[in-house]
Amino acid sequence: MAGTGIVIDRRYLDHHTGAGHPERPERIAVLLPLIEAAADLIRVPPRPASGDELALVHDGGYVEEVAETEHKPWFAFDADTPTSPGSYAAARLAAGGFLALLDAIMSGAVRNGFAFVRPPGHHAERHRAMGFCLFNNVAVGAEYLRRRHGLQRVLIVDWDVHHGNGTQHLFESDPGVLYVSTHQYPFYPGTGAIDEVGYNDGEGYTVNLAFPAGFGDAEYREAFQKIVEPIARQYEPQFVLISAGFDAHLRDPLAGMQVTESGFAAMAHALLTVACQHCDSRCAAILEGGYDLQAIHNSVQQVLDEFRAGTVPPPPGPASSRGSAVIERIRRVQSRYWRL
Ligand SMILES: [Zn+2]
Repeated sequence: MAGTGIVIDRRYLDHHTGAGHPERPERIAVLLPLIEAAADLIRVPPRPASGDELALVHDGGYVEEVAETEHKPWFAFDADTPTSPGSYAAARLAAGGFLALLDAIMSGAVRNGFAFVRPPGHHAERHRAMGFCLFNNVAVGAEYLRRRHGLQRVLIVDWDVHHGNGTQHLFESDPGVLYVSTHQYPFYPGTGAIDEVGYNDGEGYTVNLAFPAGFGDAEYREAFQKIVEPIARQYEPQFVLISAGFDAHLRDPLAGMQVTESGFAAMAHALLTVACQHCDSRCAAILEGGYDLQAIHNSVQQVLDEFRAGTVPPPPGPASSRGSAVIERIRRVQSRYWRL
């Protein structure tokens, strides 16, 4: 069966954020040698997302605002989210690169894949940039799968250490996209409490696993086994998308979690297994945060081993952890909607 598709491109280095900013071009540069050395990975060339594609989830006027930054030597949407003249092109290529990967998976050219892009996307709202994010790449991708490929149930699992406020808000009244997030809480951006479960037709299709600082591999694994995997299976997704940040890593300078490379690989394993069992292995990850270069490099290496394998026997690990009380509170909230 076709292998793993990879999107990565030097043009993702053209988005400059200024000295000292954690979301820096080196985050992609550190991955280029790793990908170039791997002969078995299939490179999927990125393309810029069109205005219509960005408008699947963004307000047209907002897209225009981002476009105008191309002519400004320096601009900042907020204190965290600066742009340089190359930012708009990089952001279009980030969203479009993910769409190219999704097309490659839908056509069967590749089985699954990972898009290593920047700027990241999951904080971007319909009308605004925030939290280092300009366009919400994963949300554009989910909507593209529904509108252009006719899918009806898309699962997004967001294991970035921050809550993906933008992604949640875009789909929280919509049962066609199930949004599941693990994140440190309370923490930036402030959203993602466990009782945020979606509303109207989307009630029950937003799953927030809000964790206190200090959770590591064992806690994440227990949460996946007890909550994420059962919900994902019951939803019967037609495509599994992963907002893959690596800032829950114990080395990360911004957050306070203790996940290791093996922990990320275990999460990838679990989601690839869901994809294998429910949707012909269709699974695509996209880079969100992660600010320690060694942590990103090593985590990506292990996660890609899982993508190459498709599924492998689950890594050994404890089924219980220091997180059981927190996970039980989440289970109680979500058991209104799912068999848990
Ligand atoms: Zn993050």
